[in-house]
Amino acid sequence: MAARVPNLSKSRYQKGLQCHRQLWLECHRRHLADPISDTTRALFDMGHRVGELARERYRDGVLVEADYRQGALALATTRELIRGGAAALFEAAFDGDGVFVRADVLLKAPRGCWDLIEVKQSTKAKDEHVTDAAAQVYSIERSGLSVRSAAIMHVDTEYVWEGGDYDPHRLFALEDVTDQVRSHLEILPARLAEMRRMLSGECPEKRFGKHCRKPYDCAFLGHCQASLPDFAIIDLPWVTDEQLAALQADGIYSVTEVPPVYPALQARQQTVCRVAAERRVWFADGLAPALAAAERPLFFLDFETVTSPLPLFPGTRPYQVIPVQWSLHRLDGDGSLRHWEHLHEDRADPRPGLVEALLDRVGERGSVVVYSSYEKTRLRQLAEELPAYADQIAALEARLFDLEPVVKEHVQHHEFRGRTSLKRVLPALVPDLGYDGLSIADGQTAMVQYEAAVRSGQNGPARAQLFADLREYCARDTLGLCRVYQHLAERAGLI
Ligand code: SF4
Repeated sequence: MAARVPNLSKSRYQKGLQCHRQLWLECHRRHLADPISDTTRALFDMGHRVGELARERYRDGVLVEADYRQGALALATTRELIRGGAAALFEAAFDGDGVFVRADVLLKAPRGCWDLIEVKQSTKAKDEHVTDAAAQVYSIERSGLSVRSAAIMHVDTEYVWEGGDYDPHRLFALEDVTDQVRSHLEILPARLAEMRRMLSGECPEKRFGKHCRKPYDCAFLGHCQASLPDFAIIDLPWVTDEQLAALQADGIYSVTEVPPVYPALQARQQTVCRVAAERRVWFADGLAPALAAAERPLFFLDFETVTSPLPLFPGTRPYQVIPVQWSLHRLDGDGSLRHWEHLHEDRADPRPGLVEALLDRVGERGSVVVYSSYEKTRLRQLAEELPAYADQIAALEARLFDLEPVVKEHVQHHEFRGRTSLKRVLPALVPDLGYDGLSIADGQTAMVQYEAAVRSGQNGPARAQLFADLREYCARDTLGLCRVYQHLAERAGLI
């Protein structure tokens, strides 16, 4: 039976551009969407906060108060405000040609025209922002208004926050996208017609591709993937849309089903498929000398950082990456293990204290084992930002020993699934020490929750518990790194 064609909105139009099936599910089976995580909710909240700050640039602006459940009220209020001569509107509502939109900022321009500004917490205008603005211009113009220009207001990473209130005139930059919007408007009516036709029919077939995560994570990933095998082709490293289409056309959905020779895949992808199918665990001969290059005592180091569109610490810029925590394990020749940690807990500049504490613990000899180039990048950044410590930090950087390239080159394990991140490698090589059971089990959650706690400044048991969880998480990373090193050293006959 044909489905009822629902109304569209600018966000539904975006979903339809990303994937017709996603739009169909959004309109007809909304209850199948994945639950929204606390981390995602915190990112939404940040987006709202950024939007509110953007409004402060326009002191005479009027907010259309109706919320997202009060569309009719929002439309009526908008009409009334425009009739009353408002010069700047926030969240103005339009429903031209059945496309419901709320405009972040709408400014009166000469000769009865309007300028549209869409606020984003990104650092530049992106393609998806242009199509978003185009849907708004379409709806506004179909409602009888003329739009003179469209711009994206994004965060300006040159702005240095000195503390106090954020300055909305320096925090944001405007990027005119009128030409791109006009260009998209040429194809928008046809896209809308396609979407409406599709929505009146059955749910489109599922076709995985990069579009499932770009430009946004699809809300129905869990639903679509529910029927997929454990190691699905969409999780194959370096997989392209063309390869996914070829595999799906051949009825292959599991990496373990890929034939031994499958020319559409690269050689390194075929290796991943073979390792998975054969459940192979393999250590190369050169592992021992590669590991022996690390000098004892061995230190194992991990940084956690925070980055935000709204700087958290005075003297820093939007999206500047600021280390706020480290964990350090020290392994001596007799097998004894010691641990130190540092977590910055207030809104003073965390960097000097963090560096001093680290230099104090890491001493002057022994390799500092890290996993990936992330710590090296952070140390270089700290040396630039804190010249007084530059020489000591450079000496520390010279002692870094990156274990990830060693793993990449010398270990194959079917549970790695072609990846070599610590999150993948640790549970495979050291099954008794994964990340299960931790309240915080990934870096993004750690960062988002840390920022919320420090920004709010609230004290109490919840904050104390969060900081304890953050310490536990970071300590697990360096203990895990140490255990991976020990496991490999044992396999290589070094201990
Ligand atoms: S998971 Fe992919 S195929 Fe499924 S609805 Fe989302 S974007 Fe479309």
